[in-house]
Amino acid sequence: MLDSLDRTISLAAPAKINLALHVTGRRSDGYHLLDSLVIFAAFGDKVNVKHAPADSFAMSGPFGSELPDDENNLVLRARDALRRHFPEQATPVAIHLEKRLPVASGIGGGSSDAAATVRSLAALWGIEAEPEQLAAIGLMLGADVPMCLQGRSLIARGIGEDIEHVAGLPHLPILLANNGLSVSTPQVFAALEKRDNPPLPALPALATVLDVCAYLAETDNHLFAAAARLTPAICETMDELRNTDARLVRMSGSGGTCFAIYDSDGEAETAAKNLRQRNPDWFVVATHSVKEGS
Ligand code: ATP
Repeated sequence: MLDSLDRTISLAAPAKINLALHVTGRRSDGYHLLDSLVIFAAFGDKVNVKHAPADSFAMSGPFGSELPDDENNLVLRARDALRRHFPEQATPVAIHLEKRLPVASGIGGGSSDAAATVRSLAALWGIEAEPEQLAAIGLMLGADVPMCLQGRSLIARGIGEDIEHVAGLPHLPILLANNGLSVSTPQVFAALEKRDNPPLPALPALATVLDVCAYLAETDNHLFAAAARLTPAICETMDELRNTDARLVRMSGSGGTCFAIYDSDGEAETAAKNLRQRNPDWFVVATHSVKEGS
């Protein structure tokens, strides 16, 4: 019993990468309809939770100081949402967030933190909820939270809540780069010129990095033009990545983080080293896609 009271649950909150993002329409309530191929990276934030005499919340990491530590933080909104649904089990908790992902940068850090908080607190509090119930709680926190609760390769449709798993993607060596500018997702959607694009082409078998990049070449990120108009410096990040041995370069989400895909982890690491040398202030990380089921 003492053991379980003392234990800390530590969960990764991985970066979400939109390999392709098509904007296919708009709902009457203003939410945009998307069709997006999403993977998760082996790099991200980390959420730790443990029982405590009273609730507390602390942040560390390179981007921890950029976020409020009050109820505007998605971690605390996730804690409070779960507590509202399961008040009997929700005893006081100490939560720590190690914030390694840049804020408002298109790689879903906030949504991933919220998802990791829901999952870790559900485990700590012994909540045996159906995945659908946690997804519904997640959706109230943000459209991307249900996909982050999955944490594995998927296609997201609707406003992001209609999720189809994608099995069999190969290991993808990836470089993430961001020149330090945050981009407002609502502003990017508001600046879109075209909202009725075709959906993603049907997904063929994608066994190799080359297969994935050939498929992605037939797709797009429809948020890029609007994001680049609002924040032209995103193009500098894209250009820097294009000057490497990348097979494909694209912006994730509403930007401004861009990613590049390489043939090998070694190539991604070399490109990251060179990019960091030229741009020491940028966020630059060599990583790879999370393996299915890990
Ligand atoms: P997406 O790709 O899902 O649009 P994003 O990567 O562009 O997300 P986030 O980093 O998730 O953006 O942040 C979105 C907003 O949420 C920011 O305005 C930020 O201030 C707020 N926020 C609240 N809590 C967090 C958190 N724990 N981490 C990041 N952002 C948070």
